[in-house]
Amino acid sequence: MADDRKLPTRADDFSAWYNELVLRAELADYSPVRGCMVIRPPGYGIWERMQRALDDMFKETGHQNAYFPLFIPESFLRKEAQHVEGFAPETAVVTIGGGKVLDEPLVVRPTSETIIYAMFAKWVQSYRDLPILMNQWANVVRWEMRTRLFLRTLEFLWQEGHTAHATHDEAETEARQMLGIYRKFMEEWVAMPVVTGQKSDSERFAGALRTYSCEAMMQDNKALQAGTSHNLGQNFAKAFDLTFQTESGETAHAWNTSWGVSTRLIGGLVMTHGDDVGLRVPPRLAPIELVIVPIYKTDAERARVIEVAQGVRAALSGPGSGVPIRTHVDVREHLKPGAKYYDWELRGVPIRMELGPRDLDREQAVIVRRDTREKQPVPLATIGEAVRGLLTRIQGDMFAAARERREAHSVREPVTYDRFREIMEGEGAFVYAGWCGGAECEAQVKTDTKATIRVLPDPEFRSPEAPTRCLRCDQPVKSEALWARAY
Ligand SMILES: [Zn+2]
Repeated sequence: MADDRKLPTRADDFSAWYNELVLRAELADYSPVRGCMVIRPPGYGIWERMQRALDDMFKETGHQNAYFPLFIPESFLRKEAQHVEGFAPETAVVTIGGGKVLDEPLVVRPTSETIIYAMFAKWVQSYRDLPILMNQWANVVRWEMRTRLFLRTLEFLWQEGHTAHATHDEAETEARQMLGIYRKFMEEWVAMPVVTGQKSDSERFAGALRTYSCEAMMQDNKALQAGTSHNLGQNFAKAFDLTFQTESGETAHAWNTSWGVSTRLIGGLVMTHGDDVGLRVPPRLAPIELVIVPIYKTDAERARVIEVAQGVRAALSGPGSGVPIRTHVDVREHLKPGAKYYDWELRGVPIRMELGPRDLDREQAVIVRRDTREKQPVPLATIGEAVRGLLTRIQGDMFAAARERREAHSVREPVTYDRFREIMEGEGAFVYAGWCGGAECEAQVKTDTKATIRVLPDPEFRSPEAPTRCLRCDQPVKSEALWARAY
């Protein structure tokens, strides 16, 4: 049973609210190892649904799953200069195995480009062996100093897609395609709107030619980088001698992409949809979509109500029920209905059904939306239809509300640098403004305000009137940039 102290509110302390909510909704817990987390069943249930949806989309677009080892020879990481520079400071390294000092230390994978492209090099001879379209579901380790549940932990779960192509254009199309799939998943499943675009050079993945990203706005107006897709060019192919014979008989280096999303998305879900009462899980990702709370006083009432509740559950979730609805009947004896409502609201189950003797007399049930907390009576005869319709509506409404919120906290009119600093030091926002393309300007903005360029937005996210001057130096613009503080 969850703790019944009130949650901290989002307005009072967003960060405390987030931590408490993750703990009390039993999504995750701190582990005995500093910086690691335990993902508990309610959190893992959301991850499983994320995995399933993404995995289907990857397979629909021709990718296959494989598995590569956790350990990577240390020398592999050094083969791509930018890659080692980017990842070496946060690697965990195994130097002893079976009581003996290893000849070559093994890095615990922070990401798997090096070992995967070393294997691709072995498997690819000719253009006929391309493309390779692979994905792996795995854990990775990055030795972070400052950690937060789901957002940044030493070990996390993710998927990493890795592909090899014969041409630059094919790799570019693939990197873009996967960014599109991530966007679709985040919008249609997580109900979390994102801005897509390209990263500036300073925020690019270590070893990539170009990095694309999906950026979501959390309820404290900070950005969360929710997924990235990289066109790796030929950098890794050159480092690992991943070559193939072209149709005309020449030897060429392959072109690679890699792309990933992680359990960080669960943190994004919490910070996009949670409220001061608890979690709100979008129906498509909810391990339980409908919880039935029986209401009774006497044993006779109990028997009657629970029988109907179980019948409703069987009808909604069983075979032959159309699209099954993940339904749970809360038969816990030691809790009053009010305590159960509180508990399920904290956990974010999209719909609660209240069912008592008086409802049965009227052949109805009362259903309550978690997102708006609106109540309505529904005839038992058409309950399946009503619940299915409402789940679809909730999914759509949650996305619309999140998008509206983001737009309300986006600044598109021209701002002076002073005004920009004020915004970043105050409420925060997504600020669309010009950038001269200079790394110095970008670095200075970060020093002054902690804001960074999240992406150079894709055309559909750009402002109707393109900015003409750099936010900081007032020089002519090279591109429009989305600036925000970020997790
Ligand atoms: Zn500038």
